Amino acid sequence: MKYVLVTGGVVSGLGKGVTASSIGVILKACGLRVTSIKIDPYLNTDAGTMSPFEHGEVFVLDDGGEVDLDLGNYERFLDIKLTRDNNITTGKIYQAVIDKERRGDYLGKTVQVVPHITDAIQEWIERVAMIPVDGKEGPADVCVIELGGTIGDIESMPFIEALGQFSYRVGADNFCLIHVSLVPVLSVVGEQKTKPTQHSVRGLRSLGLTPNILACRSTKELEENVKAKLCQFCHVSAENIISLYDVSNIWHVPLLLKDQKAHEAILKALNLIGVANEPALVEWKSRAELSDMLHEPVRIAMVGKYTGLSDSYLSVLKALLHASVACHMKLFIEWIPSSDLEDATAKENPESYKAAWNLLKGADGVLVPGGFGDRGVQGKIIAAKYARENKIPFLGICLGMQIAVIEFTRSVLGLQDANSTEFDPNTSNPCVIFMPEGSKTHMGGTMRLGSRRTYFQVADCLSAKLYGNKSFIDERHRHRYEVNPDMVAQLEDAGLSFTGKDESGQRMEIVELSSHPFYVGVQFHPEFKSRPGKPSALFLVGLIAAACGQLDAVLKKSGTKTTAMSNGTSAIKSHQYGNADKTPNWSLGVVYSNGNGVHC
Ligand code: GLN
Repeated sequence: MKYVLVTGGVVSGLGKGVTASSIGVILKACGLRVTSIKIDPYLNTDAGTMSPFEHGEVFVLDDGGEVDLDLGNYERFLDIKLTRDNNITTGKIYQAVIDKERRGDYLGKTVQVVPHITDAIQEWIERVAMIPVDGKEGPADVCVIELGGTIGDIESMPFIEALGQFSYRVGADNFCLIHVSLVPVLSVVGEQKTKPTQHSVRGLRSLGLTPNILACRSTKELEENVKAKLCQFCHVSAENIISLYDVSNIWHVPLLLKDQKAHEAILKALNLIGVANEPALVEWKSRAELSDMLHEPVRIAMVGKYTGLSDSYLSVLKALLHASVACHMKLFIEWIPSSDLEDATAKENPESYKAAWNLLKGADGVLVPGGFGDRGVQGKIIAAKYARENKIPFLGICLGMQIAVIEFTRSVLGLQDANSTEFDPNTSNPCVIFMPEGSKTHMGGTMRLGSRRTYFQVADCLSAKLYGNKSFIDERHRHRYEVNPDMVAQLEDAGLSFTGKDESGQRMEIVELSSHPFYVGVQFHPEFKSRPGKPSALFLVGLIAAACGQLDAVLKKSGTKTTAMSNGTSAIKSHQYGNADKTPNWSLGVVYSNGNGVHC
């Protein structure tokens, strides 16, 4: 097993995750099998209990692991399926060591950070690196390890120490360290500055780690004299200094790496020259380039508890992007804070109310994503009602599906106090209830989590057709509440169809409104399995296709359409953000209504 460690310097938010995933992409394109590990030095055992508004979305894996969103990047870029153990946290390591201590495994010894925690980290890495993640037998060839945070953080010290020992143990030919750093431009002199990188490399060395490659993030390509300076002061050869400047969409990043022969530098460090092929990135190239050319807009209203951080819904955005690309449309996201649609806002803040309604009315499709807690629920119900009554394509994901059911129960069945018991435990019409596969008292890892099977109830329902007429599908879940099975008959009589259920028939997985062109709710999260060339099981394609009038064409070609459409990968014309302050940013390639599109 060969290891590539990716560390970050100077500041966070440089796009280390995208860089590390892109390194994986070029190595994979060289014919190597690649796996990855993300280290998050925080104390939480996993990302499950962290607020998406603080830390970005919680990504969910097949095995139910609630992990950092960077694992989503790896799954999407490398088309692999990771396990919960591929995300290491300080919490997990300490828990494992303390469990061992309680069992008596260290009997007689003083348990310390060095060597017990550092040994546990190394053992974890070696064990997890061997787990196959690409559907093939046996371990991968290369494991890309991304160390979260920035060099110098107190939290990451045990990991740095462990990785220093690890690099020595596995040997120079099996370990390559890539340090992602920042080369800022000061607006006064307009000159690329190397000092922050010099300091951060010095910090890295003082901790016992020597970088093989420097990946320098900057707004523009690195100037030759700047490279020369970095060579001299950081002791890294010129061909090992990669200029990762701003590009119009993140699919260009593997191409940037390839163009600068980063693969050769990595293969050389890992003693793999001659073993691996020249990377072929034909699909990436056409996707990235065509992605810059799309112009015909498709406007999707995202109605959520939106507070300005687009990372909170990252996988949904990516899934929408993959789907829009497949439909050759340029994606515009209209962020609508759901509470702005509520009557109370009309009185308190008429401007926001008007703006929110204008965005909703101008949208080609409405998406209500997952969520927790009752803030903004009323606004989401209003959005669902608007989409249902005005025949606007609607997709409700998880909470979004529950919202659609609550709205229907209130408006069509006339049960005005219908609600989820999550929001009103005493409602006399609980149309969404707590379904025990989890716990109400323990919040960590107790939800209905991970891959579960959904069986289509009717062969020719819209969702079955979109999924290529399969009889069942496996999608990822993350919820505690579900549609009340006791109310299903009543709802179906009124026209709401539950077209997908679990094997027991008790858990409602998909809801559809046949009298509507596209009104679909799903209890699962289709966004987690969407890939750049393979949009999420046609579901989000369903929404996008319906929103831009292509649904009939998609349905006619159902089953073959996914590949047919994705081969012609054109994509979203990107919007340039944030360059005014000379901070490097990689755009996701989506245009946002509020300008909060900065994403690395
Ligand atoms: N809060 C809802 C539940 O727990 C929905 C969760 C979600 O959208 N992920 O069931």
